[in-house]
Amino acid sequence: MITTKTSQTRRDCPDIDPRELTLSPKIREECGVFGVYGADNAAATTALGLHALQHRGQEACGIASFDGEKFHTERHLGLVGDAFTGDDPSERLPGHAAIGHNRYSTAGKTVLRNTQPLFADLAAGGFAVAHNGHLTNAFQLREQLVADGAIFQSTSDTEVVVHLVARSKRVQFVNKFIDALRKIDGGFAFVGLTNKELIGARDRQGIRPLIIGKKDDTYMLASETCALDMIDAEVFREVEPGEVVVINESGIEFIRAFPKVPERPCVFEFVYFARPDSIVGGQSVYEVRKKMGQRLAQEVPADVDVIIPVPDSGVPAAIGFAQESGIPFELGIIRNHYVGRTFIQPTQQIRDMGVRLKHSANRKLIEGKRVLLVDDSIVRGTTSTKIVRMIRDAGASEVHFRSASPPIKHPDFYGVDMPNAERLLAANHDLETMNQLLGSESLGFLSIDGLYWAMGIEHRNADFPQFSDHCFTGEYPTALIDFDRKSNGQNPQMSLLVEVA
Ligand code: AMP
Repeated sequence: MITTKTSQTRRDCPDIDPRELTLSPKIREECGVFGVYGADNAAATTALGLHALQHRGQEACGIASFDGEKFHTERHLGLVGDAFTGDDPSERLPGHAAIGHNRYSTAGKTVLRNTQPLFADLAAGGFAVAHNGHLTNAFQLREQLVADGAIFQSTSDTEVVVHLVARSKRVQFVNKFIDALRKIDGGFAFVGLTNKELIGARDRQGIRPLIIGKKDDTYMLASETCALDMIDAEVFREVEPGEVVVINESGIEFIRAFPKVPERPCVFEFVYFARPDSIVGGQSVYEVRKKMGQRLAQEVPADVDVIIPVPDSGVPAAIGFAQESGIPFELGIIRNHYVGRTFIQPTQQIRDMGVRLKHSANRKLIEGKRVLLVDDSIVRGTTSTKIVRMIRDAGASEVHFRSASPPIKHPDFYGVDMPNAERLLAANHDLETMNQLLGSESLGFLSIDGLYWAMGIEHRNADFPQFSDHCFTGEYPTALIDFDRKSNGQNPQMSLLVEVA
């Protein structure tokens, strides 16, 4: 049995748009997950963890708890701070164990139906699950399950896993879950809650992150260490790629669900996604971003008067650039913090507006100066084009632009919002044309070797790249089954993929 408390009922949700089901590669989720077992106020702890992970998804959030008898769930559209404020969420969501999720979707409608944690009453007992990442064969599996009689309630790829768990013939719940994991492909970090345990799982190559925390005798799972800092917990260790972790009354158990393969964590966690105060793969994200800026200054220097970061994501790299070049660093762009990240709004029109709402020029620092703008990345070029214009309008005599990561030429399929190649600026234009489109005096990107250097690796291993850097190189770490089926085998990356996978 489950007590479901939601801010809206399911009946409010519009019907599934069939296009959501066919455009598989477009339905992506960038998310944050958190789970805790053995805390008196598990839901309150989870709300705090999700609050620290808010940057990973701002469209919707939810918490599921288990009180020893019943599961409770609450799912909301909007921010954690709005959804779980006021009274203690543990009063509405009682129990010693809970999981939570922040969602960020880029296509399909933002509906409560797709909000996580998902919950199902299975023959084996209640099961709540939350997922960060994207499954590359979810639509193939979904078609098979539907043909077999399964009825789906959401368009989320996570629901495929729930159906696979339900159908597994294994006896123990965790084995059913592992059975399901062995059928899926892609990048994933799961947290799951049963009436006995908290389960965590990470994909074979560790594309998406998942970390174990500990405070006294209580264990927690989180997408990033900043969520552990928030609740004063210590980092226990990362969940290893291909590992399943079970936390229950008896403590913590580690299960190797997949044979070891070379790790390929997603490089974009360092470039943009993770919070700068998080430690990813043992490295400070802030320090890595500063080194990206330092190396950028060596590779593509600029003769300017002032270095201005595109806030907030460009700040550490701009500091690194300024320290390396000796050119003054100034906060020449002020960001309005009450507007969500540019990408959050699903339509181009609203996204355009979002950029204007978000940044304003600090004129006094800019007038008559040769300005270098530093950002972490250029994706569509929307932000950079507007910012260059804004700085010029504010009186700069020259505006130069540097990206602290290489040109993004390939879409992502593992849970980072990287649009189709047609919309990626660098996929369609050479450097000179991009510079003209941005309206800048000069444009420069960090090299792929520079990026690896910043992450503490002397050289990228061409046979087994140490990171999943597909957005820059087009070398995907897994097969892209849904994408390949959609493009009728026309995907030029496919031969590469199979080899690497
Ligand atoms: P664009 O305007 O499309 O070129 O996007 C570039 C801006 O979006 C930069 O300021 C980045 O910090 C930010 N950005 C990069 N990657 C992502 C992502 N996956 N999701 C949201 N924003 C991103």
